[in-house]
This record gives sequence, structure tokens and C-alpha cells, in this order.
Amino acid sequence: MRTDVLVIGAGPAGAVAARVLAKAGARALLVDDIRDTDKVGESLPGAARPLLRDLGLLPWLAQSKPRACVGNVSAWGDDVLRATDFIRDPNGSGWHVDRQRFEASLRDAAQEAGATWRTARLKSVTRDEAGWQVQLSDGALCTRWLIDASGRSGILARKLGVARTRDTPMIALYAIGENRHADERTMVESVEDGWWYCAPLPQGRRIAVLHVEASDASRILHEPHGWLDQLAATRHIRLLCPADASWCPPRGADAGGACLQQWSGDGWLAVGDAALAFDPLSSQGMFNALYTGLRGAQAVMGVLSGQPDELARYSHQLSNVRQTYLRHTQYFYAAEQRWKHRPFWRRRHAEATQMPRSRLG
Ligand SMILES: Cc1cc2nc3c(=O)[nH]c(=O)nc-3n(C[C@H](O)[C@H](O)[C@H](O)COP(=O)(O)OP(=O)(O)OC[C@H]3O[C@@H](n4cnc5c(N)ncnc54)[C@H](O)[C@@H]3O)c2cc1C
Repeated sequence: MRTDVLVIGAGPAGAVAARVLAKAGARALLVDDIRDTDKVGESLPGAARPLLRDLGLLPWLAQSKPRACVGNVSAWGDDVLRATDFIRDPNGSGWHVDRQRFEASLRDAAQEAGATWRTARLKSVTRDEAGWQVQLSDGALCTRWLIDASGRSGILARKLGVARTRDTPMIALYAIGENRHADERTMVESVEDGWWYCAPLPQGRRIAVLHVEASDASRILHEPHGWLDQLAATRHIRLLCPADASWCPPRGADAGGACLQQWSGDGWLAVGDAALAFDPLSSQGMFNALYTGLRGAQAVMGVLSGQPDELARYSHQLSNVRQTYLRHTQYFYAAEQRWKHRPFWRRRHAEATQMPRSRLG
């Protein structure tokens, strides 16, 4: 089999890339082995609305039946809860999505545009004069271009030996339970050794997530009621998320920022978390995945139509995103000074910069 572009990973970044490529007339094959049916990350800011509209994805988002996200409320720097109402946001409210349904919708949208979708896993790649020879779990193929949309695993970049810079490590300990509160907002609360957020999910569920140092994460997971004890010790989150037996067992996920040292090369390019992964405090991951899926696909189409400078332009855009992200997260971590001698906060403190937007409002 021969194709123009193989997109590895069908999360938001890969599905958008495949859709954009197919709409531009390329033969695009999208593959994913869909191992993680319980992906974390649910809040899509209203700022994504113009991008989703331009991509023709608003009806596909609606099809996945998201909940409205009408604002954030946070206790950060002191115990006072401060609200940010999205009613004043020119883009309107955001969404709390069901990840499985949202991603299934995005895959449908890629297929509607003409992309081919297959459940398969990337096993190996080699390059020769005909292009990339790719071994998938269900067979071999030849492709002119590869897009790495494999999320934090960055599987293609790893196989190509491209290094990944990891920021200060952080683990997210998350659990999903029944939503027993009518508040539609995301709540954020900083605590002595990390920070929490909770958000309502579609289908009457709620997610609660504790972000801590890796050493604390393994201790908390190994204690019989470690996560629930931490939840019970919060001032605000526990009011929306009672620390009782209704939660599924907590799971851990890598949540530190990371960045590929090279975003593209001869016949390949990375998008989404594979290229740039964000601390969830930024609430920027899915937006960036959609944006880089679009821009990455446009860059590939540019090169295929004889504009090699498109790759440098793409890298320049990612570099700007990365710099802005670093400034913003440093600013927000610096705003919490109550526990500055604790390892979690000490490692994250850096100089404050201008006021940005994030999960904190
Ligand atoms: C705790 C936490 C909370 C978060 N909260 C938010 C939030 O509220 N809002 C937000 O916008 N973002 C949030 N994020 C980030 C967000 O989830 C990611 O940024 C987003 O999923 C990135 O999309 P992606 O398409 O790049 O990668 P992914 O969604 O990770 O998709 C990558 C895909 O590649 C596939 N894959 C991997 N290896 C292979 C292989 N070898 N072959 C084939 N397929 C493969 C995987 O199965 C996966 O489906 C959060 C992240 C964390 C850790």
C-alpha cells in the first residue's frame, strides 16, 4: 500500500491533521491503536471556537455532546475563591468534553473529509529513496510523509532518535466519580505539596485531579486511602468532590511540560503533545493539539507543493508557543508563595511576567 501522509495517533492533533490533509487533496491515512480509553483532559476553552469554526468542526464537537464550561473558580495564592465568568469572554463559554466521544467525532470528521482511518499501531520505520517504509501492527506500507501525533509518547520522534526536553516532572493523580454538584465551572485549588482541579464531565460524572511531585505520587497511590485523604484535606475542592467511596481508583499520568528538540525533519513533522506538551495548569493542551494539527498539515502540504520554507515557519510558530507557555506557567507558579519552601513549589518558582490566561482565569 502507498499513501502520501501517514498520521500516527488519532487524538485531537492527529485527527485534525488528517482532516486538513485530506481536504487539501492528499491521501492521508490516520492510525491509532486506541489503548487509552480513559484519557484525561476535558476542558476546551472558548478561545478554541474560531479555530473549530475554521476547521468546520463545531458541528462535530456538538455531536459529541459536550457540557458548557461557563467559567473557572480558583483559590491560588490565598484561600479566597475567585471566579472568572466566561460571559465576558468574546468567544463565549468553553466546553467540558467526553474525550472518547470527542475523539470519535474528530475521527469521523477526518473520514468525512476523505482521510482513511485504521486501528493499527506503529511498529517501525525506515527511509529509502521511495520514501518511508512503515511497519504497522496490521501490515506494511510506503508513505512520502509521516506526522507524529502520538501524544506524550512521541513514538516516531523516539524511533528517529530526536531528543525530548522535559520540564520539571509532575504527576497527575486523577479519579472520576459521580457528579453530585450543579456547579458547571472548573475549580482550581493550590495546596501545600501541589494543586488540585475538578471539573464536571458529560454523563453526570466529575473528574478530580491532584498534581504532585513524582515521589509524592507513588507514596499517595500506595497508601490505602492516600488520594482520598489528600482530597479530604482540601478547603474548597472537597465541597464539590466529597472524599468518599464513590470515586474510581485513582490513576497516575505524566503531566509535566515537555518539548521536542526538533519539530520536523526530512519527510516528518510532529504535532500536538508529541511536539509540545503542557502543564495542565495552562489548560492549553487540546487547543494546541488542534492548532498544531492544522498548522502541521498545512506545512506538509506546503512542502509537497514546493514550498520547503513552510517547515521553518512551522518550527518558528511552535517556538513562539513554547516561549509564551513557559512565561505564563512561571508567572502563575510564582503567584503562590505560601509554601515556597516545599519542594513542589520551590522547584516551580521563577520570575513573574505579564498577566496571561490559563485554567486560573
Ligand atoms: C492531568 C491532565 C489534565 C489535562 N487537562 C486538560 C484540559 O483540561 N484541557 C486541555 O485542553 N488539555 C488538557 N490536558 C492535555 C491534553 O489531554 C493533551 O494536550 C491532548 O490530549 C493532546 O492531544 P494529542 O492529539 O497531541 O495527543 P493524545 O490525545 O495523547 O493522542 C495521541 C494518540 O496517539 C496514539 N498512539 C501512541 N502511540 C501510538 C503508536 N505507536 N501507534 C499508533 N498510535 C499511537 C495514542 O493511542 C493516542 O490516542 C491534560 C493533560 C493532563 C495530563
